[in-house]
Amino acid sequence: MHIAVVALGAFGHVNPTLSFVTELIRRGNRVTYFTTENFRSIIEPLGAKFVPMRSWMAEHDRHNDSDGDQTQSEGDNVAASVPFLFLNEAGAFIDDILAVLQEDRPDAIVHDFAGIAGTIAADVLKVPNIMLYTSYPANEYYSVAEGFNNVPADHPLRKAAEEIAENYAAKYHCRVMTFQEIFDGQGDFNIVMMQKRLVPHNETFGENFVFTGVQIGKRTAFGGWTAPDNGKPLLYSSLGTAFNNWPEYYPILFDAVRDLDINVFAALGAIDPSSLKDIPANVECAQMVPQLDILSQSSVFITHAGMGGTGEAIYYGVPMIAIPQMEEQAITARQIEEKGLGIAFIDKNKITSESLKEAIQELLCNPSYKKTAEEFREDMKSLGGSAASAEALLNYLEKRHG
Ligand code: UDP
Repeated sequence: MHIAVVALGAFGHVNPTLSFVTELIRRGNRVTYFTTENFRSIIEPLGAKFVPMRSWMAEHDRHNDSDGDQTQSEGDNVAASVPFLFLNEAGAFIDDILAVLQEDRPDAIVHDFAGIAGTIAADVLKVPNIMLYTSYPANEYYSVAEGFNNVPADHPLRKAAEEIAENYAAKYHCRVMTFQEIFDGQGDFNIVMMQKRLVPHNETFGENFVFTGVQIGKRTAFGGWTAPDNGKPLLYSSLGTAFNNWPEYYPILFDAVRDLDINVFAALGAIDPSSLKDIPANVECAQMVPQLDILSQSSVFITHAGMGGTGEAIYYGVPMIAIPQMEEQAITARQIEEKGLGIAFIDKNKITSESLKEAIQELLCNPSYKKTAEEFREDMKSLGGSAASAEALLNYLEKRHG
């Protein structure tokens, strides 16, 4: 089979597809992968045909700029700006995708909710539209779009997004990509890369949904990392790749761990390490790091509770301290605390170095968190990850082809 993958050019969207693509190719299928040029060196070694795409967002979105300006697409604005950004991103490369796929027709197009061009291309080419959920899937019992519908109807970004969606529908004869369609839309077949037990109302999803858990595979980006050989527990901190520009956090973290007998690794994302003062001797910092390598050696993970990082921590049985940066992450952070996988600080502005230190000590000393994490890890592994995703997709396509 020939499978096309369309991914937004961001690690949170590309990473979950990597081992899935590897698995499809290992089973003798061809994959054409569309994303931004900076992922070429990650995609090509998988054996996929890489097709670079232009990025509207790289030119216009400034939410993680080094000047600390997060206001354009964060906070109150995020609900209004996300559909606008994703729709514009799709517009930058939908024609290029169609040009390639009209010549070399795929058996299916795989994408996540951010890969709007994937939905449009599937509509145009009339091929199966395969949705990857790296986060919560929606149906009549649970709506991700609800949070986004709070944006007033006359908000300029909402109106602009609606206009773009109407234009695409007129130009490509595809569905209208409304808020509802972007956040709650389903594919002809749906692969949920989450643990079923963390999905609200999971029993209400039908047979066209499979839950395969986090997709862990070999990653080549950022090399490897080995913890200091001093027998001390490792604390790993990362606020992810998207909304990580929060400089005020680091003095809090540093003061929390300064006197603890542990090793600490802090992944800084957009923060320049040279801007940080007074880094304790037991702390190592870097901007982008090999997260799976580090998690496999960690005892505690301070995370923004992004779905990728949360699934990865569970896969390695690591208890978490969750500090969400946005609403979807807050849902996960609450679950982390409720299920006994860790401790959540829902309001990041209320964290102090004392409360963070207490939470770290609690996770290191109270074995119940590790026990729960191990139990979730067993369940996660039983879901099958990328092998299960590839098998489910191929079975679906074979049945459909009759
Ligand atoms: N990641 C990484 N190195 C880093 C930071 C993040 O490899 O320094 C990876 C991480 O393993 C995860 C993804 O980037 O797969 C981030 O996804 P997540 O959903 O946790 O957060 P997002 O960045 O989308 O908010």
